[in-house]
Amino acid sequence: MYLKFWGTRGSIPVPGNKTIKYGGNTPCVELRTDNNNIFILDAGSGIRELGKHLKEEDFRKDITILLTHYHWDHIQGIPFFMPLYSEQNKIIFIGESNKERSIETLLSGQMDEHYFPVKINQVKSRIEFENISSGNLRIFDDIELQAIRANHSSPALAFKIQVSGKSIVYMPDNELIKESLNLSHSFAGLKNLNADLIQFCKDCDYLIHDTFYDENNAFTKKGWGHTSNSILAYFSILANVKNLILFHFNPDYDDNKMDEIYKETSKIIKNEKSNVICVAATEGLKLDI
Ligand SMILES: [Zn+2]
Ligand SMILES: [Zn+2]
Repeated sequence: MYLKFWGTRGSIPVPGNKTIKYGGNTPCVELRTDNNNIFILDAGSGIRELGKHLKEEDFRKDITILLTHYHWDHIQGIPFFMPLYSEQNKIIFIGESNKERSIETLLSGQMDEHYFPVKINQVKSRIEFENISSGNLRIFDDIELQAIRANHSSPALAFKIQVSGKSIVYMPDNELIKESLNLSHSFAGLKNLNADLIQFCKDCDYLIHDTFYDENNAFTKKGWGHTSNSILAYFSILANVKNLILFHFNPDYDDNKMDEIYKETSKIIKNEKSNVICVAATEGLKLDI
């Protein structure tokens, strides 16, 4: 069983020599289970390369794509996902619909004829759309999936997957709440203001979480739906996660800045004498779990 990171960046792809280490593609994480089932977490531009690999592998089982929300960086890779155009594949999109728009409507907009030559209902694969809402629990062949409301600038979910005795929380766009911009009281404030999310992440093996800002940027972007690395470090300690995976990086942060963010986060955890292991996601990173 493994997790593989095909896209780590938030907002917009940022290719170039300043983002080689951490990657320029937008969010896409592959979970491959022991039964060779595949669950894809978000469909940012990273899903394009994953699709090519699945084609080479001649992967014929169902492909499940879990969508946290419909901001463009989480769906923009769908039109370029090769299995979408193969008769051999069945693709199940799982996300949250709302009163006005179904998941199909939400996804078909970017494949409207003005934006892309093929409509979503014209592709060769068999497609299904399944709704999931905060508080829902779904059981699949070998995984158990739970959803919870994330704190973001538009309705967004976070997911917890239990599989083969391991728990993985995927929370790519989320703003952890603190009572003030002063870090000194962050443990008490964080605990009260984020009680539901702490409970959701409690004791999980892997927490893949939004790390969009450093503390200075977070100061000016309160309410934008993203989290600073330092608050995330304290949150991971409160939730007693085993592995904290920094993810969904600011497009303005180059590799040097991301090295700093990683070092600073690790230092906070170390200073608190916590056992949380901090890992920064990099494009192409494969974690055997
Ligand atoms: Zn995003
Ligand atoms: Zn978003």
